[in-house]
Amino acid sequence: MQHDKNSRRRFIGNTAKAGLALTTLSSLPAYLSANVADMPASASDDKTGFDQTPLPYAYTALEPIVDAETMELHYSKHAAAYSENLKEAAVAEKIEAGTSLENVLAKVSKYSAKVRNNGGGHYNHELFWKTMKAPGGAEKPSGELLAAIEKEFKSFDAFQTLFNDAGKNRFGSGWAWLIIGAGKKLSVVSTANQDNPLMDISDVKGYPLLGLDVWEHAYYLKYQNRRPEYLTAWRKEVNWDFVQARFEKMA
Ligand code: MN
Repeated sequence: MQHDKNSRRRFIGNTAKAGLALTTLSSLPAYLSANVADMPASASDDKTGFDQTPLPYAYTALEPIVDAETMELHYSKHAAAYSENLKEAAVAEKIEAGTSLENVLAKVSKYSAKVRNNGGGHYNHELFWKTMKAPGGAEKPSGELLAAIEKEFKSFDAFQTLFNDAGKNRFGSGWAWLIIGAGKKLSVVSTANQDNPLMDISDVKGYPLLGLDVWEHAYYLKYQNRRPEYLTAWRKEVNWDFVQARFEKMA
């Protein structure tokens, strides 16, 4: 496993490239119009821009909450397959090179189920890796994001309960989300499979600030049937600085 300065540098490089995609956001709803293209074209030879970016930490970094074997399988097998399948579909369906993934998702109804499943899968996982960090840091947001959460949900604890319930009550596979939508309103929602709230076909719409994967592949090796235990433990490794930065872009 190599998560050295080079992969860190690539990660930062990819993040910096986000600005280049901003001109292609015309199809997004008005409340998503500014600065949202944070899934930029990747640094490899891939022409579609839908390659995986390097994991910003080692597979062991999230231990003991998420075990290294789960992380390795999740990143290098499950998420890698979404990226590969999306690239294949993007070529087959003639998605123009350099189109941001947000733009594809905003009109995903025009494409195949392969684009919906793998485009969602790729976006959701690229976001998921970044919303996590090694346990031990701040376990709640601060500043404007905390104030907005307290305003919308009454308290941070009440938000945690809602978010947990969204993950617990999602039958089968899917995601729990904290999103910011029209009127800058925060909501907690969930989606099935690899759908997400950026998709035109989603009943819940907004820009995802935080997403939690509740597919069994995300937790089964360690938690088996105990999804609620995974949900509660996972709180300790949310990268609130990253979530805060997404919030500030939109607020
Ligand atoms: Mn997953």
